[in-house]
Amino acid sequence: MQNKPQRRKRYPGTHPKRFDDKYKELNPADYPDEQEKVRAQGRTPAGTHVPILLAEILSALHPQAGETVLDCTVGYGGHAEALARTGARVIGIDIDGVELPRTTARLATLGLTISPHHTNFAGIAGVLAAEQLSGVDCLLADLGVSSMQLDQPSRGFAFKHDGPLDMRMDGTRGRTAVEFIHATEETALAELLREYGDEPKADALAHVLKRETPRTTHALAGLVLRVHGLNPETYRKENARDKHPAARVFQALRMAVNREPANLAELLRVLPASMNPGGRVAILTFHSGEERKVRDTFKDLLASGVFARAELTGIRAGKDELYDNPRARSARLFVAELPA
Ligand code: SAH
Repeated sequence: MQNKPQRRKRYPGTHPKRFDDKYKELNPADYPDEQEKVRAQGRTPAGTHVPILLAEILSALHPQAGETVLDCTVGYGGHAEALARTGARVIGIDIDGVELPRTTARLATLGLTISPHHTNFAGIAGVLAAEQLSGVDCLLADLGVSSMQLDQPSRGFAFKHDGPLDMRMDGTRGRTAVEFIHATEETALAELLREYGDEPKADALAHVLKRETPRTTHALAGLVLRVHGLNPETYRKENARDKHPAARVFQALRMAVNREPANLAELLRVLPASMNPGGRVAILTFHSGEERKVRDTFKDLLASGVFARAELTGIRAGKDELYDNPRARSARLFVAELPA
């Protein structure tokens, strides 16, 4: 069969409008060196995720060949890749049914096998039963969202690009952020903006959210700016390090849409029963609510002797890692070990 002549791609200009054109690293076949170039600039290449505190996690979990590792949040598989290279058997969970098969395939091209489970980590008992295991030797949970999720406008997690206000990590079920806002009472909305986002203007914001029900990420970001007395047309951050006023609101809505606090509570509840004697646990948190939950649980498990050792201060990324990966800024790592 004759190959059709390939038409050369049109140059999209210096300010391409489409996400796929703007991020050349999304097309490694056309731009093989682009991912490395972007990383060298301290940015995360679109469509990838840089694993946080990787060396610290490997040293805390120190999986041995033949042991079992449960990665509750596979994402791009940065941690899973390193864990699989130790020769341990890696079982991988993720609630994101779009990214999980991609990651499994990406790892396979590296000659690494993980056993993927598209499910919520709150249901690890079911995963262990399916794998015919009574417990695992190492468990990792890297909470929150992946860079792929954040960077893909169609998933609606961020306001950098406009997209539908969706925010579901599992796009196959549950309510989108728009549906969630529509279905939630104003007072409950205000409460979760305060509790999950520390939003100072929670009441005013909940009121406007109910009245206007924004349908896109830009509409929501604009609405937040207006409630904060800022003009969406002219707003610019004074300092690159400043947080956009909408960041807190996006975080709070994302947590609510995905029931993140309840899922973490359930993971922590079933954790001890999911571990083999001598097992090691590593949990990466990204905000104070998560930190508090993990620290308090680890403290209790240490006091009751379920854990032999636990690190309760929360290990932070060092200067070099933060320089290379600003997304590690809010990460805190909690590790623990069960008695042999
Ligand atoms: N450690 C990964 C990145 C993980 S990002 C890496 O190195 O690439 C966090 C991941 O957790 C996302 O892919 C998200 O979909 C997943 N996730 C969040 N909550 C979850 C839950 N309750 N159950 C399963 N996966 C979850």
